[in-house]
Amino acid sequence: MSKIAVIGGGAAGMMAAIRAAERGHHVTIYEKNEKLGKKVYITGKGRCNVTNACDAETFFEHITGNAKFFYSAFYGFDNFRVMELLEKLGCPLKTERGNRVFPISDHSSDVIKALRKYIEKLNCQVCYNTPVKALLTEEYKDNDTAFYEGNNVYEYGFPEKAEDNKRSEKKKKNKYVQKIVGVELAGGKKVFYDNVILATGGVSYPSTGSTGDGHRFAKELGLNVTECKPSLVPFEVKEEWCGRLQGLALKNVTATLYVDGKKVFSQMGELLFTHFGVSGPLILTASSVLAQKKNANDVMLTIDLKPALTEEQLDKRFLKEFEEGHNKQLKNILSSLYPSGLAAIMPKLAGVEESKPAHSITREERERLVRNTRELKLTVIGTRGFAEAIITSGGIDLKEVNPSTMECKTVKNLYVAGELLNLDAHTGGYNLQIAWSTGYLAGDCVE
Ligand SMILES: Cc1cc2nc3c(=O)[nH]c(=O)nc-3n(C[C@H](O)[C@H](O)[C@H](O)COP(=O)(O)OP(=O)(O)OC[C@H]3O[C@@H](n4cnc5c(N)ncnc54)[C@H](O)[C@@H]3O)c2cc1C
Repeated sequence: MSKIAVIGGGAAGMMAAIRAAERGHHVTIYEKNEKLGKKVYITGKGRCNVTNACDAETFFEHITGNAKFFYSAFYGFDNFRVMELLEKLGCPLKTERGNRVFPISDHSSDVIKALRKYIEKLNCQVCYNTPVKALLTEEYKDNDTAFYEGNNVYEYGFPEKAEDNKRSEKKKKNKYVQKIVGVELAGGKKVFYDNVILATGGVSYPSTGSTGDGHRFAKELGLNVTECKPSLVPFEVKEEWCGRLQGLALKNVTATLYVDGKKVFSQMGELLFTHFGVSGPLILTASSVLAQKKNANDVMLTIDLKPALTEEQLDKRFLKEFEEGHNKQLKNILSSLYPSGLAAIMPKLAGVEESKPAHSITREERERLVRNTRELKLTVIGTRGFAEAIITSGGIDLKEVNPSTMECKTVKNLYVAGELLNLDAHTGGYNLQIAWSTGYLAGDCVE
């Protein structure tokens, strides 16, 4: 049996430790905080949306980048297996709207408690308040590496004259150049291990302990780490009037996102005005699409306030309101068409005098009101930072990792799991499932 170090006692680290210990390995978890699962504790507004009980196909649709990378991990330990495990460990679950799964108690602490107890039962050693400073490596010398090309297997690399186009990166076996031998702790102590599972999380909500240490370790080993951006995060907008609507939540509106003039996202749902811009489920999902775009310059958000009506129906609705209240001022009429804060702002945005009596509003003015209702424009000047981002987009390049084992292709005995990877998803329990599945797979494959 091997000695395994798991760095990070978050969702991925806990699950990796559990699986490795179930297989009989001697596992030590190093956690820089005073407790396990500090981030899990704040998930789902303290209720922990542990996973999503949808089918596999739907699940993959909610992964924002390379869903294929996730296939092996997911099929090895899918959403229903996570639910089965938690229930077996004494944490009964319930499924809510949108297949979101929560503990029946509505307390994330019950999820952590169930996992922690099982970790203790499996005799894993947990070192709290123990940050790992560095990974210890040795140069790797081995003759096992083989290169596959069609039916040919080459022990020492591809022959020079072989045709490149027949080679497939996929079929090439891992080509290790280094090997992990242990970890160095913050105080300088060196501890030696057969395998290390790196599960230090991303860089969002750094107050929970995820401060990007794993990215640094990976870079020091020569692994490629893609640019990290805040994702599932609110937007900051240029329009100052937004701030005056702070606290206003709009349901059943359609938000459409344009990046450099191209429509990249459109969905109906709920959004919320804040003092800096917009937030809410719709915006968080839109932000995960934006995070995937490189060099986005011009980002525009439009909100359709009445998506259930056609332009014609909306125009008729305005006409009817204007006819019925033909002596009323525009601002008073609009309060039946919009929530109160918006009713006060809409005339200005449409360039119509708010005190104008309904009977004197011209067709052009009415058309402008209709257009603004269908396409309320907001200029996105940025997103909020990592401190407010639910997830980190970017991380260890998936090309560096074998998706069937989670082992690094060039660093033998180093396994990577969780948010540290350049793999993320929409809200709804999908991100924790990424952590559970990749953690489980790493723990299942360590030798
Ligand atoms: C506010 C909020 C709400 C969320 N809600 C949900 C939700 O309801 N459902 C969902 O699916 N996802 C949710 N997420 C996302 C989810 O929490 C993450 O995807 C998940 O926690 C990632 O797990 P992880 O184990 O990879 O990383 P983390 O949970 O961040 O764990 C990493 C651990 O590593 C430790 N660590 C880091 N560096 C070192 C080091 N050098 N030495 C030792 N230890 C170290 C950290 O202290 C930390 O405990 C939410 C995120 C946030 C911020």
